[in-house]
Amino acid sequence: MAISIKIIRTPQSRIHLCDFENIEFGKIFSDHMFRVDYVDGSWINPSIIPYGPISIAPSLSAIHYGQSIFEGMKAFKNEAGQAMLFRPIENARRLNLSAKRMGMPEIPEELYMEGLKQLVQLDKDWIPTKDGSALYVRPFMFATDDYVGVRPSLNYSFMIFCCPVNSYYPKPIRVKIEESYVRASTGMAGFAKAAGNYGISMLPSHEAKLEGYDQIIWTDGHSHEYVEESGTTNLFFVVDDKLVLTPKLDGNILNGITRDTCISLLKDKGYTVEERKIAVSEIIDWCQAGRLSDCFGTGTAAIIAKIATIGFQGKNYELPEASERVISNFLYKTIYGIQTGKIEDIHNWSMPL
Ligand SMILES: *Cc1c(COP(=O)(O)O)cnc(C)c1O
Repeated sequence: MAISIKIIRTPQSRIHLCDFENIEFGKIFSDHMFRVDYVDGSWINPSIIPYGPISIAPSLSAIHYGQSIFEGMKAFKNEAGQAMLFRPIENARRLNLSAKRMGMPEIPEELYMEGLKQLVQLDKDWIPTKDGSALYVRPFMFATDDYVGVRPSLNYSFMIFCCPVNSYYPKPIRVKIEESYVRASTGMAGFAKAAGNYGISMLPSHEAKLEGYDQIIWTDGHSHEYVEESGTTNLFFVVDDKLVLTPKLDGNILNGITRDTCISLLKDKGYTVEERKIAVSEIIDWCQAGRLSDCFGTGTAAIIAKIATIGFQGKNYELPEASERVISNFLYKTIYGIQTGKIEDIHNWSMPL
């Protein structure tokens, strides 16, 4: 069945107010947003409306009990000026996995995709074209009952808004292996992009900042002996410029789309990629022997975030210079090239609109 979306255009575009040369990350929003509500067991009134505040009750169930999930992806423009989404269906599927874990309704993939495509097409002029930039797209779902009892909400909203973002080449970061706090453990919701997982990470990352680190490497909740992920990125370790390792998906870490993209591209190139448990002690051994040639986080925002320093039990281990990172440089160039249509997309990851 065809999905019909009601569109109310903004009477006055704000695009002339956006300085595309200097965009502050996450603070500028495009003209429109998509919204669909879940009422009485069905998704109703899909609409695209001007971006702006929404009205909510103080008793809004999402605020009190945390049934709130999100996604993040990017849209680009190819040389012909066409809008391109990168692996959007994977985001739709992951949102539904998060929804299921949080006792929330799933959203039909066709409805998600139709809202997404029409919104990005309508706000296409907001896709920046400067090298490294993109339109960041944020789908999210939250519980909307105005009821203070603890039970799964009966009503929900699903929305999408967009932010133009500039190139995000952060300088290589300093990370600390965390041995006290835990992000997720067996049976919890680490694999879900659920708001609460980020709420509990704020204090630990703030404390790491006070110690001079940019981010935390989480370890497992049972023994703190195995690394999991870092901030909103999955982790990769390269030993002797040959062997690539990344923690396996054990239910505690997010199944990153950039992670999966990196694994495929590395396998295409003939690298051995091992997805397995990685012990902190192994990483420290590689560092001490000078064998850790590359180490980085992968995620939609940065694509590749190189790690310069690993801190563990008060000692800092320094990694090779950013320019010498063969694998992370290859991955960044290839992924951004595919996303913007400059490199051939043999996996059919890009979806032109
Ligand atoms: C979003 C996210 C990632 C990266 O996922 P991508 O699909 O590559 O953007 C990794 N870890 C966490 C905790 C995340 O929230």
